[in-house]
Amino acid sequence: MSTLNPFTIAQQQLDEAAVRLGLDSATHELLRWPMREYHFTLPVKMDNGATRIFKGFRVQYNNARGPTKGGIRWHPEETIDTVRALAAWMTWKTSVVDIPLGGGKGGIVCNPKEMSNGEKERLARAYIRAVGRELGVHRDVPAPDVYTTPQIMAWMMDEYETIMGYSHPGVITGKPLPVGGSEGRGDATARGGVYIVREAAQAMNINVKNASYAIQGFGNAGQFAATLHQEILGGGTLLAATDSRGGVFNSSGLDPQALVKHKLESGALTGFPGGKPISNEEILELQCDVLYPAALEGVVTAKNASNIKAKIMCELANGPTTPEADKILYEKGVYVLPDFLANAGGVTVSYFEQVQNTYNYYWSLEDVHKQLDRKMTDAFKSVYDMSKKTRVHNRLSAYMVSVSRVAEACKIRGWV
Ligand code: NAD
Repeated sequence: MSTLNPFTIAQQQLDEAAVRLGLDSATHELLRWPMREYHFTLPVKMDNGATRIFKGFRVQYNNARGPTKGGIRWHPEETIDTVRALAAWMTWKTSVVDIPLGGGKGGIVCNPKEMSNGEKERLARAYIRAVGRELGVHRDVPAPDVYTTPQIMAWMMDEYETIMGYSHPGVITGKPLPVGGSEGRGDATARGGVYIVREAAQAMNINVKNASYAIQGFGNAGQFAATLHQEILGGGTLLAATDSRGGVFNSSGLDPQALVKHKLESGALTGFPGGKPISNEEILELQCDVLYPAALEGVVTAKNASNIKAKIMCELANGPTTPEADKILYEKGVYVLPDFLANAGGVTVSYFEQVQNTYNYYWSLEDVHKQLDRKMTDAFKSVYDMSKKTRVHNRLSAYMVSVSRVAEACKIRGWV
């Protein structure tokens, strides 16, 4: 795993794209930094009567293309630099799928696993009391992220509406359906990833109906990818899946629905009938057509990249591939669908939620799927065309698409 500061990595990635694009120095410098950031000290009454002081952040990285958008993370090791990096990545993510939003991110240093529901609610409301005046559908729209849930979003929306004195459900997305959530949010990340696997396979003349696939990480993104891969592509053989405790493999294929049921009931993949054990390292090097890393960052490195045999690697996880590994995979001919493109389905449906809230009319599930497919397919095409034109690996090509769009918006506004 990389030990570099995540914000330094984000800046280096931008630098490479900026040089390739020939950005002028003012635009380049502008895009290297958050445009605005807030640091909060939040007093919260705990169940035992004591007051605890929490630290929180909100970074509004760039709003040239529209209001900033990005999740709120609750994590004991949260730092401002992690939030800055994630806010930068949100800026490139909303741009690559061409939705009219900028990028942002928030965080609170806390351990929600040690907090009661009442304490979580008071912390959620305290955060909104601190940041609320900087939020809104025309300013900055948060969403769930690591250890934050639809319920937490509902408390935050309620606090915001109470302070403002009017209904404003679009201030936050990822809400439960009864208070303005969108159909189709639950599986949107995996669904968006599978849509672009379909496009990549077509570009590479791979027959997806017969393709084999493997999934590292079997949480929200991984479980939905397991079933949606076959549903959307009309076939395929799930060879293996792993979670933090190891996983299962079968060369004749595993039944994805049964595997998800087994995981939900037993809490693990191991012990699934007909599955031979496979480790988290082995699954990455498996002979298969499509590999979905859907767990952690930094798993594909200079050490194992040359052993990856998949034809397509669809990064549902954030940051699974190190920069050195990217170059090796490109030279080897592994077709990488980079994280901020591959997992952009979630923010795209969050944007649809915001749109539905704003005009107070709600779409059917079919409408959500249709619009998501269109957005992901168009995004894939832009990245594909850029990579053909510039002959660079897909991550750099995706950066070039995103950064050029944000740079153009900055220029048109007269900022640079
Ligand atoms: P999750 O917590 O639901 O699932 C994570 C899974 O990874 C679990 O099955 C866990 O057991 C497994 N895991 C943990 N350590 C592992 C290890 N060492 N090896 C293999 N598996 C391991 O998380 P999620 O929401 O599915 O997110 C997974 C990844 O996708 C993250 O990188 C996340 O940032 C990214 N992502 C998710 C969404 C989303 O909408 N869920 C959106 C964008 C990006």
